[in-house]
Amino acid sequence: MDKINPNFQKLAPSYLFSEIAHRMGTYQEANPTAKLIKMGIGDVTRPLPPACIRAMHEAVDELANVRTMKGYGPEAGYLFLRQAISDADYKARGVDIAPSEIFVSDGAKSDTANFSDLFGSGIKLGITNPVYPVYVDANAMGGHAGDPDGRGNWSGITYLPTNASNGFVPELPKAHLDIIYLCFPNNPTGTTLKKARLKEWVDYALREKALIFFDSAYERFITEDDVPHSIYEIEGAKECAIEFRSFSKTAGFTGVRCGYTVVPHDVKSNGVELNALWSRRQTTKFNGASYISQKGAAAIYTPEGHEEAMALIKYYLENARTIREAMARAGYECFGGVNAPYVWIKTPADFPKSWDFFQYLMEEKNVISTPGVGFGSEGEGYIRLSAFNTHELTKEAMNRILR
Ligand SMILES: *Cc1c(COP(=O)(O)O)cnc(C)c1O
Repeated sequence: MDKINPNFQKLAPSYLFSEIAHRMGTYQEANPTAKLIKMGIGDVTRPLPPACIRAMHEAVDELANVRTMKGYGPEAGYLFLRQAISDADYKARGVDIAPSEIFVSDGAKSDTANFSDLFGSGIKLGITNPVYPVYVDANAMGGHAGDPDGRGNWSGITYLPTNASNGFVPELPKAHLDIIYLCFPNNPTGTTLKKARLKEWVDYALREKALIFFDSAYERFITEDDVPHSIYEIEGAKECAIEFRSFSKTAGFTGVRCGYTVVPHDVKSNGVELNALWSRRQTTKFNGASYISQKGAAAIYTPEGHEEAMALIKYYLENARTIREAMARAGYECFGGVNAPYVWIKTPADFPKSWDFFQYLMEEKNVISTPGVGFGSEGEGYIRLSAFNTHELTKEAMNRILR
């Protein structure tokens, strides 16, 4: 027996960020004095909120004491954190989500990737395009995506284009789908869905007995009033939606690792409660997020932790505004960046391809972007600039582009 899972053999090597690193390396070698400003990767750069740091120090000290040390915790997370989430992220917004419907984890990437474990073969998937690549690749690994077509798409996935021509609002599918992945505020486009648009998707899911997997990793970046923070603000969503959240972008936890997934008791598939199934899956394959990171995450729900985390978000959103305004002044068509830390930019007529514009910005402006086509075929003709940087470097990058 020497056969590996054939689904893994269908996957193309992950290429986007290694290709960017390769091109950067080649350029830097030929131009050793060039000071490249990296606005490509979606990772935070500012120190964590002091309240979180203090809470994590205290948690470490508890582990040092025989009376307060902790071993395995509850797989779905400590009640102190699940209760805080239930109260602050839901009840305070008029949404009733009980702690038993909240599963704390080591982050949203693993949960969004693992959730399709609960479903059998032949499920009909709808995924927006461009998209956070995890949903597609994880479903491919699980055998849910069919076969690759050689042009970056999979036969078993219905792609839902989100681009300038539909105002970055995916259109409802003509045919039946079982599961639809939605991520709003969106990575990579930085755009959002207003309440009325999201309601159309919830209504579709209820009508078609479909499920919506709603990734709201960027929820804290929402600044506009009519943008829903949670899909459960929409009537009926508690019967058809799973919501994924993360402390990574909320409070700089990309290196700490903590997030959570909401599985309401009323969400059923073939009469089976997904809450019970996900619990069964997690208690088998996951032993819980660390006590230290959960204590750190709970501190975000204290008044000072909240204020400090929001100050971080404000810092990044100011960069997003700097980027948006400068790129618009330079004559580029820009999207997003108002409720998200990403600005999605249409490539100019002389560089219709994402990679060509990437190369131009690197060589002529020494600014590193992410080519939109790396997020899916509908991302061709766009690049993404990330606001996760210092004010100084963001301004410097924009000055270079305006020069
Ligand atoms: C960053 C990000 C996440 C968060 O992943 P973690 O594993 O919690 O760090 C989830 N979804 C999207 C779309 C993201 O961009």
